[in-house]
Amino acid sequence: MINNKEKLVFKISYVIILLVVCSIALGWYSKILRNELKDLVRNTLKQVSNQNVLIVQKEIEGDLNALTEVAERIGALGALGELQQEEIVETLKEVSYRYPFKRMGFCGTDGIAYATDGNITDISERSYFEASLQGEKCISEPFADPLSGGDIIVFSVPVRSNSEIVGIVFATYGVDSMKEILSVSSFEGKGYTYIVRRDGSKVVDSVSPTSFQNMSNIFTSMKAADRRNTQAVRDLKRILDKDETGYVIFYNEIGKYMYATPLGINDWFLIDVVPVDFMESTSNYIIHRTYLICALLAAVFVVLAAMLYQGERKKKQQMQNLLFVDELTGGDTLAKFKSDAELRISDHSKTAAFLMMDLEGFKLINELFGYDEGNKVLRYVWEVLQKNCGADECIARSIADRFNMLLYYERKKDIEDRVLKITEEIQRYSIPKASEYILHPTFGIYYAEPGDYDVESIMNCVALAHNLARQGRDSIYKIYTDVMKERMLQKKQLSDQIEHAYKNREFVVYYQPKYDSETRMLAGAEALVRWRKPDGQMISPGLFIPLVEESGFVRKLDEYVFQEVCLAQKRWIDKGLRVVPISVNLSQRHLENPEFIDQYKAILDNSGVPIEYIQLEITESAMFEKKEEFVAIMERLHQLGFVILMDDFGTGYSSLMMLKSIPVDVMKLDKSFVDDYDDIRGEQIIRCVMRMAQDLSIAITAEGVETEEQYNFLKSIGCDTIQGYYFAKPMPEEEFEACMQQITK
Ligand code: C2E
Ligand code: CA
Ligand code: CA
Repeated sequence: MINNKEKLVFKISYVIILLVVCSIALGWYSKILRNELKDLVRNTLKQVSNQNVLIVQKEIEGDLNALTEVAERIGALGALGELQQEEIVETLKEVSYRYPFKRMGFCGTDGIAYATDGNITDISERSYFEASLQGEKCISEPFADPLSGGDIIVFSVPVRSNSEIVGIVFATYGVDSMKEILSVSSFEGKGYTYIVRRDGSKVVDSVSPTSFQNMSNIFTSMKAADRRNTQAVRDLKRILDKDETGYVIFYNEIGKYMYATPLGINDWFLIDVVPVDFMESTSNYIIHRTYLICALLAAVFVVLAAMLYQGERKKKQQMQNLLFVDELTGGDTLAKFKSDAELRISDHSKTAAFLMMDLEGFKLINELFGYDEGNKVLRYVWEVLQKNCGADECIARSIADRFNMLLYYERKKDIEDRVLKITEEIQRYSIPKASEYILHPTFGIYYAEPGDYDVESIMNCVALAHNLARQGRDSIYKIYTDVMKERMLQKKQLSDQIEHAYKNREFVVYYQPKYDSETRMLAGAEALVRWRKPDGQMISPGLFIPLVEESGFVRKLDEYVFQEVCLAQKRWIDKGLRVVPISVNLSQRHLENPEFIDQYKAILDNSGVPIEYIQLEITESAMFEKKEEFVAIMERLHQLGFVILMDDFGTGYSSLMMLKSIPVDVMKLDKSFVDDYDDIRGEQIIRCVMRMAQDLSIAITAEGVETEEQYNFLKSIGCDTIQGYYFAKPMPEEEFEACMQQITK
């Protein structure tokens, strides 16, 4: 059996394993989630970056297209020589308003530039001038505007007249305007953008306060911002060198993503920067939400599990209550008693006794005074038992009025004293409607031995002892002994064999003669059944009669004896012998079924034996059980003409007064009376009984007379008939026939 500690350890390990598995699963899940989200971040960065590149490219392309258009218009004006510089500048002015250029200008092959703001400058040294004269559309590197300050970028395209390059048109674009375009907020204003060259040098930096301030080279700025950026610098360099797109994470106070994309203009790269926090805020949000949902689910799970567990426990408790709590007394049931007793009995430090108790004739209380009264009695008994039991001892009611107890003791006598004390207390109870009614508890006791561990078989032993106490009536308790068990087994064997023996005609009738005390002549006989086994072994009725009484088979057996006696009498009459009345025993089980009277009468009539030769013996104790039925049956038998003998007089509870109401012809004084004749009390009782019987005209037969002294005494006080070993033992038919032959002569 698993004890509570083991159960707890089991439960805790179960929970720990569950938690570990859940954590692993959650960790694994969040790793996958993070990877997925990282990809998402990268893609978002890529998309935003591509968008920015497109914006810049479009802007620049638009500007170059506009410029080309202007160049074509100028070229179309005619041969340059014919053109007035002013005319060209006017044309440019018209156009320039429409574009975000700082100024526009025209420069002939001589390198003298005429700008829309009126400035005339020599640009012959500038690289864009040279490149455009070669027919290229050009975008310059930023440089400081020598005219109005601030950094500028110059766009230039060639002007062709009659497919000959006659000069260039240029437009000056403020870097600040470029910054504005780049600062079009992406990432909710948290991101910013640079344009750098392959070597990291700045083309356009950012206005964002969180960007590198006064940046001249992005690598230098990164290195200066944080020592951890070495790797990021290296990675970025590699990306730029290979003209690829890619990202690095760097630190400038906080961690940031930097995404580089080639712009397709010069060796410029667009660098988009966005804080890691921002990018990951979504993923962190999702992860945190996931954790939260998991935690919520876990909480719901825990609550549900707890509720389920609680419910289960409650159900179990209810079930246990049903099984373990006796509704009537509120105490333990037999099931609880057994389970407790099992635990107690394994503790060998104390010596335990098992007891079983019930009340004699409790059924009668229910029948006479009602079930409510019966229940009150049971509750009272329960209280008494509880009061007399220690905290570690067990008591339970099993069924009806049966109680089981497990008591501890040091000396066996203590248990017996406690039994007496309990009895005394129980007997103090008085039933309101019948205060003279006294409760009679009987007990079976079993003293457990050190090797006893099987409660079930112990209970069987107590039940056996208890049964004997109920039957015995000589003591309120019986202590179990192994002999009891042996006897019980023997009895069981016998009762299994009886019906077969009956069919096998193993039952034979013996006769014990009765003698006239005055004349010492044969005056009658008692028919006594014997069981003769096929091997010749004789089994005493003292052994098997109680068994057949219990099963009811005794009725069949009695009828058999009655018939055998009738037949024997008939034979003897026919033989011309001087027959004497023979008494046949009638079990009290016949009281349950008065129809036997007619059957007996029929058997007798069929045999043709006169009724005065067959007498009936019925024990006095039968009267106690069912007095009315008893009297009715006696009267009926008497009316038919049977002589009725009251057997075993003095062993039961009937008083002499009762004899008045029953039609008894002969009283058979029990052997125990006869045995006690020599003590004063015994003698007085016998004399008193004799007088009473004589007053009622009841004849007296003394049973079990073994000595001459007994015979003489009984004769002297007027006993009519004597039955006992003094004269003769019960004998087989032939022997008894010989006795009759003697008196016939
Ligand atoms: P019981 O009816 O009281 O029968 C008398 C018993 O006392 C007989 O025992 C008899 O053998 C014995 N007895 C007679 N004289 C003496 C004596 O001087 N000394 C001693 N020690 N014993 C004496 P048995 O035959 O063993 O019968 C025992 C009991 O079995 C009978 O007691 C009776 O109650 C029952 N029984 C016997 N035959 C029948 C039967 O056919 N039907 C029924 N229902 N019960 C029977
Ligand atoms: Ca008898
Ligand atoms: Ca008797």
